[in-house]
Amino acid sequence: MGTLWGKRGKDWTKNLSSGKEFTDNCMKGIAEEVEKFHSYNVLAFDRESHYFVVQETVNNRNCRPLTHFNVNLQTRTCDCGRFQTFHLPCSHAIAACSHINHDYTTVIPDLYRVINVFKIYIQSFLGVPQEDNWPSYLGDTLMHDERMRQNKKGRTNSTRIRTEIDTV
Ligand SMILES: [Zn+2]
Repeated sequence: MGTLWGKRGKDWTKNLSSGKEFTDNCMKGIAEEVEKFHSYNVLAFDRESHYFVVQETVNNRNCRPLTHFNVNLQTRTCDCGRFQTFHLPCSHAIAACSHINHDYTTVIPDLYRVINVFKIYIQSFLGVPQEDNWPSYLGDTLMHDERMRQNKKGRTNSTRIRTEIDTV
């Protein structure tokens, strides 16, 4: 575990020094959405509530008719469901941001920023000491209940249903 933690820390230090602002997974998730956002019309918006109606102009999936999506940048929701599910702006949200000349990266949560992932691995911890150096345990000793062991058919040896009275 300590080795993995150290390796991750080293990897994220390298990512941070490369100047990336967002994680690779984040950018990979957004790349396809960024390609699509030009194909929408933003029909209406309300700047006060950050509400937009984004209409498809190109049918990417030939199985259904063209439709529209309601996007709310403040609550970070879209009718397609991807915005609220993955917490990354979908193509409709990016189109809405573009409509008001708003940088869509501002709606990407901070958890996808390289600096924040790097901060996780800045912490360090010691490995598990050898068993001889463990402190002695003073609490209760727990053991399994032999009556609850299951036989080959998946049934317990005891067929009696245990109730609260049994524990008193
Ligand atoms: Zn959407």
